[in-house]
Amino acid sequence: MGALSPGGPCFVGVDVGGTTIKAALFDDTALFDGAARPVVEVREPTPADAGPDAVVAALLAVTRQVVELAQARLARPAAIGVAALGLVDEAAGLAVRSARIGWRDVPLRAIVERELAIPVALGHDLRAAALAEARLGAGRGSASFAFLAVGTGVGGAVVLDGVPLTGAHARAAEIGHLRVAGADLACPCGSVGCLETVASARGIALAYRARTGRTVTAADVAGRLADDADAAAVWARAVDALAEALAICQLVVDPAAVVIGGGLSLAGDLLLRPLRGALADRVTLGPAPPLVRSALGDRSALVGAGLLAARLLGG
Ligand SMILES: [Zn+2]
Repeated sequence: MGALSPGGPCFVGVDVGGTTIKAALFDDTALFDGAARPVVEVREPTPADAGPDAVVAALLAVTRQVVELAQARLARPAAIGVAALGLVDEAAGLAVRSARIGWRDVPLRAIVERELAIPVALGHDLRAAALAEARLGAGRGSASFAFLAVGTGVGGAVVLDGVPLTGAHARAAEIGHLRVAGADLACPCGSVGCLETVASARGIALAYRARTGRTVTAADVAGRLADDADAAAVWARAVDALAEALAICQLVVDPAAVVIGGGLSLAGDLLLRPLRGALADRVTLGPAPPLVRSALGDRSALVGAGLLAARLLGG
């Protein structure tokens, strides 16, 4: 737990993920001077199986806890930023849909504002993460880049001239749902053969189990690459599918770089090195964009939520 910078405003960032809800208190030094370190941070499991109402209650409880920790430091947060998974309509303040949580058109911004009596900005988790990488992380120095989060699912965002692209219906850059060649598994989105079914942590674990009958995590698969042919085959398939999707991305948006985040980015060069090779093989028009690891790790959406809050005050 750190101390607040004296005199300046402070902000709460909340990241509502499929597995964990994180909330943190940021002062202006953390958000504007590049440190990106929260003053305090609270994490709780997302009660996704208990339904949308339970998730909203949990997010309010975690957020309230951080507001109280701020008050214990004699500070009142000026604004709250909430970054939520799934489809999010930032302008309307709606959590539109999430297959994982099961919510539909939840007016999350209005609910949090009413319960905590502090102004709230609602954002999409990956667009918020990409904003944080653009301002404070691996996207600094690249006006336009793609962000790919490879974790429980696969998602992305595209930053153009420093601004994450939202699209006409807040559905831009749904990279995880590009169909990849040879994939035939059903995806929670309702389609078949999406990138996410092959290259997410869940997809990798399921593919390994289908080949071997053994239940392991995607991180276990990464740890067995040197001496397990099944692990190597499953990993190579995931890498190839990611390269296929990124090559499409390169043709459509021509990013200066691709920032790789999400839990699987922790595999580092086990993922990035073969992915660079596979992408270079596929890109025929122009150079393949450099692939770099997220600098903010599993805090990118949380820091992004803090930035959304600061933006309410013109930050
Ligand atoms: Zn899908």
